[in-house]
Amino acid sequence: MPIPLYIDDIVRMRKPHPCGSDVWRIVRLGADIGIKCQGCQRRVLLPRSTFERRIKAFVARGPAAPLAPAAPASDPA
Ligand SMILES: [Zn+2]
Repeated sequence: MPIPLYIDDIVRMRKPHPCGSDVWRIVRLGADIGIKCQGCQRRVLLPRSTFERRIKAFVARGPAAPLAPAAPASDPA
């Protein structure tokens, strides 16, 4: 099952980039996923399957992502 991905998602990868940062921002969606290293701003294209295997965690979701169930509940009652 594919992981839902959105532009501007911030992800932590299993292997750090040679620059030392393991945090990347998604900049392009498609058959290949474009990510930008948040340490050195280098862009990389990875096949989606490879990218999904390398994700360790989401740090933040992009503005296009649906609200996460864990978001603080607003209870107007
Ligand atoms: Zn880097």
